[in-house]
Amino acid sequence: MAQKNRYRIHFMNVIRLITIISFISSTTLTAQKTTAQHGHRVASLVIFGGIMVDGVGTPAEGPVDIVIRNDRIERIARSSEKAKYMQSADAVIDARGKYVLPGFINMHNHIHAAPAGVPQSLQYQFNLWLGAGITTNRLLGGRAKEVRKLIRQSESGEIAAPRIIYYAWFPGGKTEDEIRSAVRRIKASGATGMKCWGIDRDTFRIAADEARKLGLQIAHHVGVEDANALDDADMGTTTIEHWYGIPDAALDGVQSFPADFNHADELDRFRYAGRLWREVDQEKLRTVLQRLVEKGVAWDPTFAIYEASRDLQRALTNPAFADYLHPALKRFFTPSPEHHGSFFAGWSNTDEVYWKENYAIWMRAVRDFERLGGVVTTGEDAGYIYQIYGFAYLRELQLHEEAGFHPLEVIRHATYNGARALGMEHEIGRIKAGFSADLIVVDGNPLANLQILLPQGLNPVLDQQRDGHGGIEWTIKQGFTYHAPTLFKQAREIVREARKNLAEQ
Ligand SMILES: [Zn+2]
Repeated sequence: MAQKNRYRIHFMNVIRLITIISFISSTTLTAQKTTAQHGHRVASLVIFGGIMVDGVGTPAEGPVDIVIRNDRIERIARSSEKAKYMQSADAVIDARGKYVLPGFINMHNHIHAAPAGVPQSLQYQFNLWLGAGITTNRLLGGRAKEVRKLIRQSESGEIAAPRIIYYAWFPGGKTEDEIRSAVRRIKASGATGMKCWGIDRDTFRIAADEARKLGLQIAHHVGVEDANALDDADMGTTTIEHWYGIPDAALDGVQSFPADFNHADELDRFRYAGRLWREVDQEKLRTVLQRLVEKGVAWDPTFAIYEASRDLQRALTNPAFADYLHPALKRFFTPSPEHHGSFFAGWSNTDEVYWKENYAIWMRAVRDFERLGGVVTTGEDAGYIYQIYGFAYLRELQLHEEAGFHPLEVIRHATYNGARALGMEHEIGRIKAGFSADLIVVDGNPLANLQILLPQGLNPVLDQQRDGHGGIEWTIKQGFTYHAPTLFKQAREIVREARKNLAEQ
């Protein structure tokens, strides 16, 4: 017995020694390897030791090493094999104790060169988007020629920007011929899809028919108008933006507007939008949701962009404003009938109370939609109603959890579901060999708290919890590595500079 124990002790020492040696050699290996550089792409990159969350809703697993060759994920290996892959790597990212997720897909955004007439650099928007982990942006609107240039520059790494999927604005048309040729021009411009807003049912149906023939995708912001979500189901819309068209299709008759309601008045419009969901016939709603699911129409609810309606105080006191609110946006957000969404002069507590209820019913509908088999995506629509690019997107994720989704489901909305809606589910939205190297490395576990995706310096309580760590550390887009704190630092500098310039004028 004693003899055997001695051997065991000896054996344990050998194991310890091996562990120590392998630890030393792996740390030396790490130290020898160059850490990834901001804004660069190398032929071979290894993200090692991270816990991975795939986009499809499966549980977190790891530690794993993710081997990237140029712009592609080459393989995912158990971390114990790391030495093998690290030896041949040009650069590494140490993800030990961190989480790796697919890059986020922002389904609803706009580029704003000069909100309220004040110039705003595109790099400001791009930095905030990338810093928030967004590697793909579905851009709704913008001039085709300029957007094509941005797409090329983003893809080559010439500018730090998410991948851009371009949907051109559908301009409308008087005759059927005009409508169809407008859609054909959109196709010819190289756009992936078109964005429809504020058009009547007949126009929409002709335009959607032409789009379908040409293989153009459709994002429909269907408001309270004669067209509603049932038209989207009929015509095979790709995504319903926001929400109005869905409850509108499930009313028992028309919404009970007061006699003096005026749809052209934004205060009226937003006020009574907050009283739309409560009028829904739940049985009818179920049929509408079912139809959308059957026809494969995805829903991009954009919860965050309406949040000021239920809590104006929260919107006005966003801690991100101190460092990140560009003076152009600040001016645009000042209540004025000339700025879309800046309707809050006259907003009341009663309006907020209605809106809180509105959110609760709306969120339940989004959850029911997914339970029926529907595809829910995440989009921000920032640059309006007190929402800043990137920050609005991260808030959107938090609101999806509030809607009753598990954080794994929220991540799925933000990644795989966006890819599905875009028809790119074999290219982006997952951590899988052969997929585009679009990833984020998070210092902390976002499944435990989605708020840790926010950068440092916004919330002292959260910062204290994180003890100098936390937030997205790297955003990797098509193999290019972007250091998120650097992106935010540059954005703060752009804002500081713009404020100074404006003050000097
Ligand atoms: Zn929009």
